[in-house]
Amino acid sequence: METISTEEAWYLRVVDLKQYDYCPRVVYYEYCLPGVRPTTFKMTAGIGAQDQVEALEKRRSLRAYDVFEGVRHFNVSLQSERLRLSGQIDLVIETGEGAARRLIPVDFKLSRRKPGKHFQLQLACYALLLEEAHQIPVDVGYLYLIQSKQSVRVEISPRLRKEVTKHLAAILHMLKNEQMPDATKHRGQCVDCEFRRFCNDVL
Ligand code: SF4
Repeated sequence: METISTEEAWYLRVVDLKQYDYCPRVVYYEYCLPGVRPTTFKMTAGIGAQDQVEALEKRRSLRAYDVFEGVRHFNVSLQSERLRLSGQIDLVIETGEGAARRLIPVDFKLSRRKPGKHFQLQLACYALLLEEAHQIPVDVGYLYLIQSKQSVRVEISPRLRKEVTKHLAAILHMLKNEQMPDATKHRGQCVDCEFRRFCNDVL
């Protein structure tokens, strides 16, 4: 999915927000040095695992997401004029009807570890995109950890929503001014970062 970048309109991708929280420089490099990102083993493995989980998901019950009945929608693409943001949600569960209708975003993750803040922010973005498109509140989402087959409930709290807005503003400011941000403070992340060769000041 490409980002639209004209003077009047910037459409960021939800994944940009996740990456910005991980390390702002990753987003800077992606946009200000386009075409330099190599495809890593991790990325390829992620796509393959996602296809598998989608096939299994169709046969599973919805209990992992605390609902008994619902319809699954895979790879739901959405765009928000207000947030200037676009994204594709791995799975949206639709349950209930009329005033009881609920939409639950689910993001599949190829991770064994407890999901970090950047994953929660990504999920919050999906919730905001769904709210705007369908005009109903989305207060809860799930991260599905493919390797451990666990679902993690994430409340889309006011604090998380505020952080999304703050991050979006900071990314737009950074890109419009082409200002390279500081390196991440968590230098352990740099060890297997695909942009390491551009960051001579960290290693
Ligand atoms: S090498 Fe480190 S500072 Fe540079 S982009 Fe990667 S994570 Fe960020």
